[in-house]
Amino acid sequence: MSLPTDGHVHTEWSWDTITGSMRGSCERAVELGLPSVAFTEHADLTPWLVPEPVRPLLPDHFRVRLRPDSVLEPPELDVAGYLACIEDCRSRFPELRILSGVELSEPHWHRPRADALLAAYDFDRVLGSVHSLPGGEHHQEVTLVSDRSPGELLRAYLGEVLGLVESTADFAVLAHIDYALRSWPGEGPPFVAAEFEEEFRTVLRALRASGRALEVNTKVPLPGEVLRWWFEVGGEAVAFGSDAHEPGLVGHGFEDAAALVESCGFRPGRTPHDFWRR
Ligand SMILES: [Zn+2]
Ligand SMILES: [Zn+2]
Repeated sequence: MSLPTDGHVHTEWSWDTITGSMRGSCERAVELGLPSVAFTEHADLTPWLVPEPVRPLLPDHFRVRLRPDSVLEPPELDVAGYLACIEDCRSRFPELRILSGVELSEPHWHRPRADALLAAYDFDRVLGSVHSLPGGEHHQEVTLVSDRSPGELLRAYLGEVLGLVESTADFAVLAHIDYALRSWPGEGPPFVAAEFEEEFRTVLRALRASGRALEVNTKVPLPGEVLRWWFEVGGEAVAFGSDAHEPGLVGHGFEDAAALVESCGFRPGRTPHDFWRR
């Protein structure tokens, strides 16, 4: 079975990576035999408070974005520069189909900005994401929240994802429905998917109703139950994304992910570039 498109890759055009490289990612995709790759750079629209204990651990390229009030304000995506780089890579790698894209963070909270960005540029792939939650005076990055139990945090995250999915914000793929699991502590009670079945199903039903695709993000393995529930609620389409922030992670975990998605009832689309379908 040929590997699916990697529909979620970051490069040097995303502010949060210093190891990203569009050219290197194309080389890696060709090496792996991926049919296509989408460069979905961050358009992070929400500033978030960096909690005190985390501040000393911040890498330099995060630290320079800190305001005096310890709020991190992500910079705007340089879309013109990014698109020129896409064109350059398309001419260098004619055997690879290269999709332009953007990962919109909380577009449902920032409709005028999100809508203006999408009106100004014709992206091939638009991902919708939740990375932060309301918390006191400022927003908090989901994986840095420390004053809630992992279960509470996951429920709060899925509640916000529901808000995103139920909104009419313009995006085709819900990114990383399991983002809050990235910070689930290794010690203490393990994550048990069944305990959150209703919350996941509620999001998945709304996603189905919206006609958008579910992403299998391979940064961490997606619990198989979530894909099974996606099939059971009538989910139509599955996208794959490594969320790589460096070339070596493009297509990471795709063989296992493709096998899992297939075992849940989905099949490759008509062309290798399409979403997988039920
Ligand atoms: Zn993301
Ligand atoms: Zn991402």
